[in-house]
Amino acid sequence: MDNNVSKVSSDLLLEQIFSITQNLYKEMSKPDNDAEDDHNTIYRLLTDLGRTLVNADRASFWKWDKRNHSLWTTAAVGAGRITIPEGTGLVGKALTEKRAIVTNDPYNDPDFNSDVDKKTGYVTRSILVMPISDCKGEFIGAYQAINKLGGGGFDLEEDVRRLSLAAFICGITLESDSFLDDSRHDKLTELKNRMGFYSDYGKTYEKILTDTEKVRNVSLFICDIDFFKKVNDTYGHNAGDAVLKHVAEHFRINSRICDGVYRWGGEEFIVVLPDTAAEQAAEAAERLRTCIMDSVCCFEDLKIKITMSFGVTQLDPSRSIEDNIKDADEKLYKAKESGRNRVIL
Ligand code: GH3
Ligand code: MG
Ligand code: MG
Repeated sequence: MDNNVSKVSSDLLLEQIFSITQNLYKEMSKPDNDAEDDHNTIYRLLTDLGRTLVNADRASFWKWDKRNHSLWTTAAVGAGRITIPEGTGLVGKALTEKRAIVTNDPYNDPDFNSDVDKKTGYVTRSILVMPISDCKGEFIGAYQAINKLGGGGFDLEEDVRRLSLAAFICGITLESDSFLDDSRHDKLTELKNRMGFYSDYGKTYEKILTDTEKVRNVSLFICDIDFFKKVNDTYGHNAGDAVLKHVAEHFRINSRICDGVYRWGGEEFIVVLPDTAAEQAAEAAERLRTCIMDSVCCFEDLKIKITMSFGVTQLDPSRSIEDNIKDADEKLYKAKESGRNRVIL
């Protein structure tokens, strides 16, 4: 290659990389940003860098959300967030078949989903999807570029090479996202754990409580399985684990989408109910109490019956979350003391 040409293009590239790095540091050092905001900044800047490198009109970076069996865009240049079921569309196909895909005639491709075009009036003429794996080789996301500018279509080999660095960095970010997600979930019940609770509190519930436009209530109850030690002692630890999963499933099924269900620790759970006053929260707790009492946990050839006790409180915005939980915990203690299998408000 001509030395001058390679010198000019590498200088330009360095300049771009430097400016993106500066931008990343600037955005990521903002005091209110948490790890998720920082990841989103990386997706946004690197997705756009990839778009420039392959000369595309639009680009998006997709996360394979294996917990919720869906695919969604963590960053999308020129479009809002899109969510689709896993295994569908060209992104689903690239991930399932573990290979990059180019379609330069999407409307004649049976895997192309034209819903977004139909909704927005945008016309997709060419697509490149590059699946991304984590360090262990497991596929976790995909880079998608749409509409090669200046005519023609994408070139599978050449454009995948051009994307490789931006896609790699987005892939590492995605992997670190999934570590963060794992740290906020309980492996046994798949409910969110205490870290998940604090993260949701900061991001959602605290904001509802301090809403300046409208007074909004948030209530929560903390609940604990009665005589759970006896389950372990009588039937063994695996049976105890099955009971915990059984309880988690009932809580999940019987909660509203907006409610947060958490495994607080051991055999204790917390349910947070946004826009709910104490009395309604107590009614919800009462419904769950009877539902658990009437249910049977089947484990191997055992049929295990349990009950639970509940302490309900409406969050007082002037107090810390720890103090509010302490209040609910004191009510739970009263429920235990006064005979268990009951709700105390
Ligand atoms: P109480 O009605 O007063 O709540 O009595 P309890 O027996 O439920 O309460 P205690 O605190 O004495 O016992 C809780 C037990 O929960 C002890 C602990 O071994 C068990 N446990 C905590 N986490 C797990 C788990 O993940 N799996 C299993 N199988 N048991 C667990
Ligand atoms: Mg207990
Ligand atoms: Mg307990």
